[in-house]
Amino acid sequence: MHELEDQLVVCMKCGMCQSVCPVFDQTGREADVTRGKLALLDGLMQELFKDPDGVFERLNKCLLCGSCAANCPTGAMQIEDRDGERVLSLCGTTLNREALTYCALCHKEMEPFRYLEYVRKKTRRVSPLVDNRPICEGCARQAAATAMQARVPQFSMHWFFAQVHWQQGLFDEALQEHKRELELRNEPVLLTALEDGFTAAGPAGAMRALAEALVDRAADTYVDPFEIAETYARAGMVDETLLWLDRAVTYGSYEITYMAFQPEFDALRNESQFLELLERVYGKRSREIIRIADQYRPRE
Ligand code: SF4
Ligand code: SF4
Repeated sequence: MHELEDQLVVCMKCGMCQSVCPVFDQTGREADVTRGKLALLDGLMQELFKDPDGVFERLNKCLLCGSCAANCPTGAMQIEDRDGERVLSLCGTTLNREALTYCALCHKEMEPFRYLEYVRKKTRRVSPLVDNRPICEGCARQAAATAMQARVPQFSMHWFFAQVHWQQGLFDEALQEHKRELELRNEPVLLTALEDGFTAAGPAGAMRALAEALVDRAADTYVDPFEIAETYARAGMVDETLLWLDRAVTYGSYEITYMAFQPEFDALRNESQFLELLERVYGKRSREIIRIADQYRPRE
């Protein structure tokens, strides 16, 4: 009990948790945000409530999204996934917990069901269910690409599949999809570069050779600089990635607004030049957008 009292004083009542909590956004009730819940816990300890069960119900109103923990300036709030659960805690004392869910198709670990339901209601058209169960981002993209292929025959889903497999760390599958895409597009030069690069140095070599072939092509015709940057990023080549991202920002690319969200650029997140580029793309909102992108980044 004394331990919890000590922990409660860590909250400096700044209200950051209120400003980012999606439950508060819907209910407008202070008791639904972390600061209010800490006050409720304080009241429980002092036996101020006639209906403790109602208070526990209130305490349980949480999507376990982690926004409060990510924004609490004292660092007292923490959120972590462990032993098949997501746990929100204050200095080690659990405030909320819920079982994680698993993708209906690939069985990848995902957020708790109530959080996924919240996101699904907001994004109904892009959050498909299979057998009434949620599916992960990667499988959802594949399902969307397959549906698109059926509607638009000239669209190639292999490009999307390659993107998804890179993000899942499935390099062999990603390269297979790249090959199919290049075969369909009748791109013998790029295909040869990909295969020779792979023979010389595995998946990273394949991406390096493909990026260099795209650079050669860019000397004669338009090639989206963002695509070149993304390919170099997959090869793990930081300087070249930054150079082509700079060109994408300077000369334009239809993909540029994805820059903060593209997992391929995760390795650049502490590079000052990358942060400057994000500022050039997103302007005054760049910090807020980086924070949102971090929230959607898979937890280690
Ligand atoms: S984890 Fe819960 S309390 Fe914290 S911001 Fe998300 S919904 Fe609100
Ligand atoms: S953000 Fe942290 S310190 Fe600020 S009111 Fe919420 S719990 Fe307290």
